Amino acid sequence: MDNVCYNDLLEKVKTYIHNPKDLERIYEAYKFADLKHKNQMRKSGDPYITHPLHVAIILAELHVGPDTIIAGLLHDVVEDTDVVLNEIKDKFGPDVAGMVDGVTKLTKMKFASLEQKQAENHQKMLLAMGKDIRVIVVKLADRLHNIRTIDAQNPEKRERICKETLEIYAPLAHRLGMFKIKAELEDRSLRYTDPIMFKKIEEDISSTNSARLENIDHIIVEIKDYLKTEGVNDFEIKGRVKNIYSIYKKMINQHKEFEDIYDVLAIRIIVDTIDNCYRVLGLIHAKYTPVPKRFKDYIAVPKPNMYQSLHTTVISGAGLTFEVQIRTKEMDQIAELGIAAHWAYKENVTYSKEKEQFEIAQKLKWYADLLQFNEEDKDESDPKTFVDSIRKDILTTSVYVYTPTGDVIDLPKGATPIDLAYKIHTELGNTMIGALVNKKIVPLDYELQNGDIVSIRTNKNSQGPSASWLKIAKTTHARHKIKSFLNKQNKDILLESGKRQLEEEFQSQRIYNYELKDEFVLKNFGKNNIETVTDLYIEIGKGTISEKTVVMKYIGEVKRDRETIIQQSIAKFNRGQKHISETGVIVDGLTNPQIKLAVCCYPIPGDPIVGYITKGTGIVVHHQNCKNLANLQKERLINLTWADNINRKYPLALKILAKTNNQLLADVMNTLSTLNINVSSLNVKNNLNLETIIKIKILVTDIEELDKVLVNLYKIPAVNEIRRENLCA
Ligand code: MN
Repeated sequence: MDNVCYNDLLEKVKTYIHNPKDLERIYEAYKFADLKHKNQMRKSGDPYITHPLHVAIILAELHVGPDTIIAGLLHDVVEDTDVVLNEIKDKFGPDVAGMVDGVTKLTKMKFASLEQKQAENHQKMLLAMGKDIRVIVVKLADRLHNIRTIDAQNPEKRERICKETLEIYAPLAHRLGMFKIKAELEDRSLRYTDPIMFKKIEEDISSTNSARLENIDHIIVEIKDYLKTEGVNDFEIKGRVKNIYSIYKKMINQHKEFEDIYDVLAIRIIVDTIDNCYRVLGLIHAKYTPVPKRFKDYIAVPKPNMYQSLHTTVISGAGLTFEVQIRTKEMDQIAELGIAAHWAYKENVTYSKEKEQFEIAQKLKWYADLLQFNEEDKDESDPKTFVDSIRKDILTTSVYVYTPTGDVIDLPKGATPIDLAYKIHTELGNTMIGALVNKKIVPLDYELQNGDIVSIRTNKNSQGPSASWLKIAKTTHARHKIKSFLNKQNKDILLESGKRQLEEEFQSQRIYNYELKDEFVLKNFGKNNIETVTDLYIEIGKGTISEKTVVMKYIGEVKRDRETIIQQSIAKFNRGQKHISETGVIVDGLTNPQIKLAVCCYPIPGDPIVGYITKGTGIVVHHQNCKNLANLQKERLINLTWADNINRKYPLALKILAKTNNQLLADVMNTLSTLNINVSSLNVKNNLNLETIIKIKILVTDIEELDKVLVNLYKIPAVNEIRRENLCA
């Protein structure tokens, strides 16, 4: 039976919060939570309120501010009782409400799977954490208490919670530098995720190594005396055993036996100044034999979670290997409490959430990354991908490398120069052609090491990333950028080929002046999710839509449009407002131009046309492919368009080449008369190849009628070829 009560919390809180108003608010929050959780029980059989109370106590031990304590007390009321967020906002303010919302799971939604549900909840929490980092501190306190009491859960849930803790929460605690909480979360979770190994390591530490533990006590005494005789007086020294999970990880990741792990035992020496850290290091190296390559200076180069310390591994005269950590008091506090030490509540200091967030982002590079990540990628990917990439890119162990200008960049272990380039800037990745590490050329799949100085070689003419880079890049961020580059490149190719195919089809239908608009695409293909002209080109390029279909629809549409325009124009005409020249050609800006149709190429409505400004006879309208244009002065050409509502016939000259045959002329004339086409002149000749050449002038309304004529003339077996006179091929 858990007998925790409000006084237990008050005792902790009173050690650093004294303002009566704050204490009053905390008490109010307790009473509110107690009332709302009344009659609710935990799986253990304890009253539910014991849980938020413990969470608040854990938070008070971290010396967080009153709002965070209040959020800890209220963290489950929205999820588990009838309280709504607005009530919390009204009673305790927006900051508290924001934190409570951040830790509240999405319970009212339906999910496709448990996995999906978990991913959505993680995403929600990570996004909330990007707005207010205290969300995760409350969540970690919540998780810590749940793990401490996990025995009450059924085995299946127990395992799931422990696995989730190792995958998400312990790494978050690590990234925040909260080592105490991290170590406890890890060891308690490992007990259920790998009980056999857990037991084995526990036994190894306690039994077979009790001798080592005893030895370490001797060594502590030895070092104490030694430092004193060397004149170092202000120091504290502790011995400790590495937490079980970190030993486990070393055994698994580095395939080591327990006996091969040097730093199972560690001695921590805490001194007053940074100078003394280095001095003590020198003394330790003078007395014991340092193990090569085991010295790490995290004072000069702090870890991304702000951790600072000197680490070295040495061997005693008796052959015992142990790690020595040397740091100042401030460093030690940050090492134990991490981010929480940074914002440890100071009374009478005005607190601004935004300022705090900013400072933290400055100190914790990865937090700045997370903020950027939230900004860039939350909409582009589903929750599972989002959470996975944060896990892989931000929460895993990292290497840090330098840019040539000395900036430190933090990347997941195993990252390559490609990951680095994309992390700095997308464009840098897209134009990258190679990399120099410590001034030597390395292959693109080189695995970056701590302390490498990396410069990225680029070339503006680079073709960009190739698909093989996807296998090399380690971070989801880089892979994502490479994929979108490749997709876009593919799209560009498809777009170009789709556009060309459509153009050819229009041309084969003798439509030259077409204009595709998004509305047309949306109306005709919107139901297939094709909404813009660009989309349409891409689909044609892919072959999912045939260019013929598009042209057919276009012709249908234009006809309908034309009919409505004709209707409208008739209405206009009836009101006496018609302003179209007799030829049916419109010249922009001129209401009554003097216009003549050329008698060389005989343009008809639907043809692409151009106007030639003559010296005496006004504007002459030519087909854009007229052979005579080559001999005309370019400066005098102007753009022209056909009116839509033309109601007249146009002369047109055709040349028909056919095999000589008695029926030929009759066939041609019959065809034309069935189509109701007037013939204004006719000239028939035979050449030496036994070919008949018919030059014929007919009257047609427009290019569509001409198409009908051509299609039917070609049906005559003897006809080989029909050309319009004076047009370039
Ligand atoms: Mn809870």
